[in-house]
Amino acid sequence: MKRLNSRRGFLRGAAGVTGATIWGGNTLDAMMQHTNTASKPSELKITDLRVATLARAPMTCPVIRIDTNQGIYGLGEVRDGASKTYALILKSRILGENPCNVDKIFRKIKQFGFDARQGGGVCAVEMALWDLAGKAYNVPVYQMLGGKFRDKIRCYADTTESDDPKIYGERLKKRKEQGFTWLKMDLGVDLVKDVPGALTYPDGEQLTMGSRKEHMLTGIEITHKGAELMAEFMSVVREQVGWNVPLSADHFGHIGVHSCIRLANALEKYNPAWLEDMIPWQRTEQLKEIKSHIGVPLLTGEDIYLKEHFIELAKNHAVDILHPDLATSGGILETKKIGDAIQEYGVPMAMHFAGSPVSCMANVHCAAATENFLVLENHSVDVPWWSDLVDGVEKPIVNKGYITVPDKPGLGVTLNDEVMKQHLLEPGYFEPTTQWDKENQRINDRLFS
Ligand SMILES: [Mg+2]
Repeated sequence: MKRLNSRRGFLRGAAGVTGATIWGGNTLDAMMQHTNTASKPSELKITDLRVATLARAPMTCPVIRIDTNQGIYGLGEVRDGASKTYALILKSRILGENPCNVDKIFRKIKQFGFDARQGGGVCAVEMALWDLAGKAYNVPVYQMLGGKFRDKIRCYADTTESDDPKIYGERLKKRKEQGFTWLKMDLGVDLVKDVPGALTYPDGEQLTMGSRKEHMLTGIEITHKGAELMAEFMSVVREQVGWNVPLSADHFGHIGVHSCIRLANALEKYNPAWLEDMIPWQRTEQLKEIKSHIGVPLLTGEDIYLKEHFIELAKNHAVDILHPDLATSGGILETKKIGDAIQEYGVPMAMHFAGSPVSCMANVHCAAATENFLVLENHSVDVPWWSDLVDGVEKPIVNKGYITVPDKPGLGVTLNDEVMKQHLLEPGYFEPTTQWDKENQRINDRLFS
């Protein structure tokens, strides 16, 4: 009787129950389900993993749903532009697991992730596990991470570039008018390729972003004249957006270490907030070389999987700011660990992001719970239907440059099936994936003997 009384009290608190004579077994079960505490977390098991892939959001975004034996499900998302297969190969490895054991499952599957898009599957699953754990225990994800440092998440927005600095500056100024308090521009060396004496490059070398050749291997070098012309481009933008708003820059093109230094020194007078991915993040020593010769913050991180590489860069003071993409870096908890670890070395954490509202909310919970968070990217403020892909949160999701941290259980969003179905990359909306059920039975996953 004592036990029953304590249970009554618990339920009264959770669901506002005032009656005292309704405790038939079925009623109790129904109440438990209604409050979702009911999901009896200790008996929760994963039964399925399915995918629906969005197109032009503005990127390709594979959204995953992990189902359970108790009717609750978790949402996650593979990194923008990555294959859904990265998540599907994990299905057989997580079936039957209790999704509330987030860290245990993460450690089991993390061997199947890697840098850049290849980390996308592990991260998608990890997000969905947090969503499930939150729903099972009826708490928002940020609370399970230790609580909030902030109620609203500062965003910066990707902005379509222009070869005309006045037009580009105007677009960035509009972002500021929309409420954004941090701006970022692209500033590729291809802007000056046709100016005699500005840029040297081997015939046929790719000058724009997307080159697969490492920066220092291309032979592309900018002259002092070229660097000054690029600085003039930034000066026009700076004048338009004003001097007190942080203005970051990215996508310089694949230029060598000395060209990076030359360019950074020319840009310094316009006080950029950071220069992003000037060379590959793997090159710690060369990043240090650049950093030691320039007077503006250097940043990298959007393609790094797992905390160890972030810690190495922070410990070596190879960059000033680190910039994980949570859908590559290892998911929500790993990214909080990254933030906390690099803070020990005095390094702040900005966050790269280019996905749907599902992954966005994973970022928002992590950003809320990580003290050294600086600003979160968003690529979708010009996609009119982006916020409508989900329900349950304030709309528009990015409002006057900020996202409000949701208080609902888990990530805090449900999918709007109708809008989702209007923007699919391929036919099929969370169709069965039974072909992936036994993948692990044919393969030996062990990493050592
Ligand atoms: Mg970038």
